[in-house]
Amino acid sequence: MQVSNRIEGLNGGGSDGWDVFYRARAMVNAGEPVTELTIGEHDIRTDPTILAAMNAAAMSGHTGYASVPGVAALRDAVALRLTQRTGVATTRDSIVITPGGQAGLFAAHMALCDAGDVALYCDPYYATYPGTIRGASAVPRVVMTRPEAAFQPSYADIAEQAEGARSILVNTPNNPTGVVYDRPTVEGIARACCDFDLWCISDEVYDTQVWEGAHLSPRAMEGMAARTLVVGSMSKSHAMTGSRVGWVAGPAEVIEHMVNLATHTTYGVPGYIQDAALFALKEGPELESRVGAPFERRRRLAQGLLAGQNVVKLVPSGGAMYLMLDCRATGLSGEEFANRLLDTHRIAVMPGESFGAAAAGHLRVAMTVEDAAFEAALTTILTFAKELAA
Ligand code: PMP
Repeated sequence: MQVSNRIEGLNGGGSDGWDVFYRARAMVNAGEPVTELTIGEHDIRTDPTILAAMNAAAMSGHTGYASVPGVAALRDAVALRLTQRTGVATTRDSIVITPGGQAGLFAAHMALCDAGDVALYCDPYYATYPGTIRGASAVPRVVMTRPEAAFQPSYADIAEQAEGARSILVNTPNNPTGVVYDRPTVEGIARACCDFDLWCISDEVYDTQVWEGAHLSPRAMEGMAARTLVVGSMSKSHAMTGSRVGWVAGPAEVIEHMVNLATHTTYGVPGYIQDAALFALKEGPELESRVGAPFERRRRLAQGLLAGQNVVKLVPSGGAMYLMLDCRATGLSGEEFANRLLDTHRIAVMPGESFGAAAAGHLRVAMTVEDAAFEAALTTILTFAKELAA
């Protein structure tokens, strides 16, 4: 029996560059000690106060079908958050609650792109992007960014690919680079969207994790609120990756269609999860700072460790839970470096190539192990790179 071409072609064929990750997992499962700096998952769990709110909501009976667009109080809280943090007046009808940011990314492309429409995304990219676009039957087209420009997409980078495209997916703070888009970048994105009549899908799931600079939402730029969907999530900001709760914010008429899509796909998010998310948002920025603090601390540690040498260069990043290391001076590809590092030192990092061609010769390091182990791993990576470069 034949499955759909859509589902069969989701990964686009070829190696997905995640071999190092799978090999490391196999070693761990076989009982070998591996320092895993691979995926974007906190080394802390969801705060017990959030779990208590979840439990109370479930025990009080919020376990039936929940409101498909999201419970009103949560939509209001998300709208208020966006209004306060981005300066764009946002109301309940501009918000749909989704089972995480990933579902929001898919729903956004479903809402904006017809089958065969070209959807732009920036390289290096979060691993699911091209598959998400293909899943919506759109055609992914890459906007290449450059390490020399700290992987910030420029107006010219976008313009080169924008002819005939329908949408562009951007991500700040960025996974995999940790780069926070500066004002010229965000203004360039906005200008390109207006000039080429593109929808902007803005993945802002790391918006609370900014260690240097400030988070700027493309939606807040002139002329952009009417053509932007913002994807948000509780996963990273509140260490709620397993709860599967996020949102999409945008023009009310688009959100209405997305609620209709949710009715025919997810049927919403469990009520007790939404109540827990509401509790967490109402706790305010203090809880978010606590969740993000380890990454800010480890980034500072890395800056200190990597200062004063040129073999492993830190891409100038300002946020998220990742570091991007430029290891081109060793002469190895990111993939070779990562494989050899795993084999010789039992440290797992992601090759830059896993996230596209732009990050070739780089490594993505997730800052997701406790400080001492993190510091030891980085020290080993640096020593190993120096040996290779010598
Ligand atoms: N966007 C980016 C850039 C991510 O890194 C992730 C998760 N790693 C997601 C979206 C999806 O997150 P979630 O579905 O957990 O909200």
